[in-house]
Amino acid sequence: MRLIVLALLAVGAPAAAEPYHLIPGAVPLDSGPDGNTIVLDAPQGLIVFDTGRHPEHAQAILDYAKTRRRPIAAVINSHWHLDHTTGNWDIRRAYARVQIYASNALEGALATFLKDSRADTDKMLADPKTPPAVRDQLERGIAVIDHPERIRPNRIVARSGRMTIAGRPLDVHLAKFAATEGDVWIYDPKTRTAIVGDLVVGLVPFMDTACPEGWSKALGQIAAVSFKTLIPGHGAPMTRADFANWRMAYDNFVKCGRSKTDEKTCVAGWQRDAAKFIAPDHRKYVDGAAAYYIETRLRSSPEEQQRYCKPLKTS
Ligand SMILES: [Zn+2]
Repeated sequence: MRLIVLALLAVGAPAAAEPYHLIPGAVPLDSGPDGNTIVLDAPQGLIVFDTGRHPEHAQAILDYAKTRRRPIAAVINSHWHLDHTTGNWDIRRAYARVQIYASNALEGALATFLKDSRADTDKMLADPKTPPAVRDQLERGIAVIDHPERIRPNRIVARSGRMTIAGRPLDVHLAKFAATEGDVWIYDPKTRTAIVGDLVVGLVPFMDTACPEGWSKALGQIAAVSFKTLIPGHGAPMTRADFANWRMAYDNFVKCGRSKTDEKTCVAGWQRDAAKFIAPDHRKYVDGAAAYYIETRLRSSPEEQQRYCKPLKTS
């Protein structure tokens, strides 16, 4: 009898609570992506790592909190790119007391990259050929660039170390001059999960504001923690072996891009090395993006190549 009861218990026992809840970011081919969102439980409520770009993504985060009947106590932004931070605004409107943790890199970006992209946005909005979906996305971008207080952190991550966020201890890492001027990634030693934002992107490293060598260094720091699962900024969770594969692909791509090797050969090298992470319908997109990053970040003038390896001007 006792054995039967035990067997029943084994079948009926709930699965071990998942260490995190993933809301995958979409990577559409006709508009900008949403970064992955990862929700963690903490004593004071939920911690939301990255908040996406589109309103549908932000709504999915709010809906999840509602079904869990727990408030969103904290947001952590991996970096300032708008596909990871725009939803801060939606979350702030729903949870006025939410604490937003991020590096201070948004300030330099507002004075430079985002200011320039604001001017491009005006031109695109003035063009009647810009499709409605893209128009909505541009307008949502303007709404946070013109009112940065909507997405700005109130808790600045200035160094790596153990932090208690919403009552939960986490190892918070700051990688300087990597995908942006300040990338935040976290490691949860209890569940051996690393959540790394765009320091890892399955498809192609989004190098728009990258310091390629600093980024490579950050990948070494990620490799040094004993994670079992790694969640990238875009794409599916990875094992340690997946990450080692991706890291090798990244370093090969930068080395090839910096060399005199033909651009097409470097792009094909990326497609081969990172094949596991690239869905067939994204291959063409990846060809274009990889070539663009070689031209703009790896093979441009020496000053341009180093542009994001030092603080962006704030005046
Ligand atoms: Zn991203």
